[in-house]
Amino acid sequence: MTGSYRIVRIAVPTPLRRSFDYLAPDVGPPPKPGVRVRVPFGQREAMGVLLELPERSDYPREKLKSTLGLLDSEPLLSARLLELLRWAAGYYHHPIGEVMQTALPTALRRGQAATVAGTKGWRLTASGRSVDASALRRAPLQRRLLQALEGHAQGVVGEELASVSPGWRGGLGSLARKGWVECVEQQRCPIPVRLAGQTDSPPRLNAAQQAAVEAVTASLRRFQALLLLGVTGSGKTEVYLHAIEEITRQGRQALVLVPEISLTPQLAARFQRRLQVPVALLHSGLSDQERLLAWLTARENTPLVILGTRSAVFVPLPRLGLIVVDEEHDQSYKQQDGFRYHGRDVAVMRASLEGIPVVLGSATPSLASLNRVKQGDYTLLPLPERTGSASLPEVRLLDMRYLAVTDGVSPPLRQALQQRLDRGEQSLLFLNRRGFAPVYRCYSCGWLAPCERCDARLIVHQRTQRLRCHHCGADRPIPVSCPQCAGQDLRPLGAGTQRLEAALSRAFPQARLLRLDRDSTRLKGALETLLHRIHAGEADILVGTQMLSKGHDFPDVTLVGVIDADQGLYNVDFRASEHLFQQVMQVSGRAGRASKGGLVLVQTYYPDNPVFRALQHHDYMAFAEHALEERRQTDYPPFTHLALLRAESPQQPMAWQFIELAHGLAAQCVAGADVQIMEPVPAPMERRAGRYRVQLLVQAATRRALHPFLDRWLALLDGSRPGKRVRWSLDVDPMDLY
Ligand code: ADP
Ligand code: ZN
Ligand code: ZN
Repeated sequence: MTGSYRIVRIAVPTPLRRSFDYLAPDVGPPPKPGVRVRVPFGQREAMGVLLELPERSDYPREKLKSTLGLLDSEPLLSARLLELLRWAAGYYHHPIGEVMQTALPTALRRGQAATVAGTKGWRLTASGRSVDASALRRAPLQRRLLQALEGHAQGVVGEELASVSPGWRGGLGSLARKGWVECVEQQRCPIPVRLAGQTDSPPRLNAAQQAAVEAVTASLRRFQALLLLGVTGSGKTEVYLHAIEEITRQGRQALVLVPEISLTPQLAARFQRRLQVPVALLHSGLSDQERLLAWLTARENTPLVILGTRSAVFVPLPRLGLIVVDEEHDQSYKQQDGFRYHGRDVAVMRASLEGIPVVLGSATPSLASLNRVKQGDYTLLPLPERTGSASLPEVRLLDMRYLAVTDGVSPPLRQALQQRLDRGEQSLLFLNRRGFAPVYRCYSCGWLAPCERCDARLIVHQRTQRLRCHHCGADRPIPVSCPQCAGQDLRPLGAGTQRLEAALSRAFPQARLLRLDRDSTRLKGALETLLHRIHAGEADILVGTQMLSKGHDFPDVTLVGVIDADQGLYNVDFRASEHLFQQVMQVSGRAGRASKGGLVLVQTYYPDNPVFRALQHHDYMAFAEHALEERRQTDYPPFTHLALLRAESPQQPMAWQFIELAHGLAAQCVAGADVQIMEPVPAPMERRAGRYRVQLLVQAATRRALHPFLDRWLALLDGSRPGKRVRWSLDVDPMDLY
């Protein structure tokens, strides 16, 4: 082969934990790392990302194949982003090719050009502009839409109008029929702009907020991690907004991560009303084209804010100046399959590579982050008070051992609900179990309807008259007689949100109930509609799962009832009490955010548990101290580092065979006492969706000891031949041990 070729190193999407070298024609300027390249791969053609142009390859030159062409002239991923992704691939021991794919929007993964066609927008017609909107008194929605469109000659993307009302589509339709608005093809209106007449002016910060903002903005060109600690309503979001204003004033960009999309409608609107720069949303609810649009916009040098969920941590932002991770303790930051990264941890690493501050905010920070504060790595910024006149709600424990309960609700809780109804205030009941009842039981022989494919019970869904498995999705009709004894006395046992809702509607027939869980929000737009109804005061009692506990601001709620606080208290997971505390404290935070003051009633059979005592005093730090000490004594994270090998197979012996093999290989790789290999065990739910699951935990005193071990071990595992039907994966820093 002649010298007219150069070597390119490519991350090809494949489960193999390595990159691949190819030859590229040596004409023109060298291709830049971060562009997409088409390559032959086995029998197929693949699209990879160019990592680097090595001087020489580890493979003989005559063995290298030639690339098939470049898809981009300019890099899609900047050098810094490539560095972050390569770090993540190494740290999580995940194949580099798959990691690179995670960073690209689907459209680009499919090879689409990195440009976007026009999008549909709406603007006023000439006759629309001549309408006096304020005269439309009988059609308030149409009036608000007209006002929102005023002054936007380029048009406004439909989705932006969602902030006017969830019913915007209907209103817009009426306006179009009158000939007042028209549809326009927009060349480039990637992200929501601020709509006319919707601006908030910032409040005056209190001393603690001021100090926090100053700490963040003091050195904007240097990495530092700041843990903003404050209960719900203490003004954390205000601190983010002020810091972001400072950043964008300098022409730079900010990345704000939030746990779940259910958080974003309100938060996004608040950001858009306050900030002078565009705020783009990035979450799984977007279409491929919308996602591409937001991604491409973020890649430009203009000041803007990206508000997104976990995967937004990989969005290119060439002028990134600040990262915020809101509710940093939230478990949804951890990806639970495939590339199992932790969004918060990657965010901190990204800030460090970029040399910028990262703010982690929470009322109930993870023990991991608190430990970093203790070690002096992170700076703690406490916001000790709720803003304005709002005070912390009073937390009372209801000792369920001595209370007669009907349908899950104790008499004191019932009375408190009645009082709120009489006063016209909202209540919120938290029950982290959807469906009608968690168990369907035969009262003659004790049979409990099982899932045939999982070690789990089927959940009763009353309205549809089905039994469903929440783990594998199995779904069948409710049987009329017992399959075991043919008895007829079959009844649901225990309560989920649907049963609670039904019981409440019997107990308070005049109350307007609203249920918020995965079932009631399945349809697109349903969540927005429900939230809108809550805010419009169209509900008296809200019933819901942890969805209710996440960041929503319900100013009119003055009573929170925690129906079953013990759920999860005596769980096998060492993080169970941490998560229980976080969850209950988060829902408690929904009470009385405005000036009304609030009451939280917690139903428990274990009122003496220290978790609840700390909860009564809103003293997360006291709880955290205690829990950290416990972790230290038991050698659990953050004092050690874990990696979990999981294997599963439809055939139980195959899964075990592999995990035993892995156990043996691990022993060969351990050098020194810093890495401990536990015994293989069945997963806490051994059978799920017809597969047997087993696991093997590795614990190390330091990351420095863990990672070289994992490298050696994975090399052996990759070379081993697990039974054909065995699937396995490695989870670094696993969040749950299931
Ligand atoms: P968090 O993010 O901690 O829940 P927010 O920033 O959302 O708190 O603040 C809660 C409420 O108090 C919001 O309505 C916010 O506008 C208001 N608020 C925040 N800071 C101040 C302040 N310094 N003065 C007056 N109101 C404030
Ligand atoms: Zn029976
Ligand atoms: Zn199942």
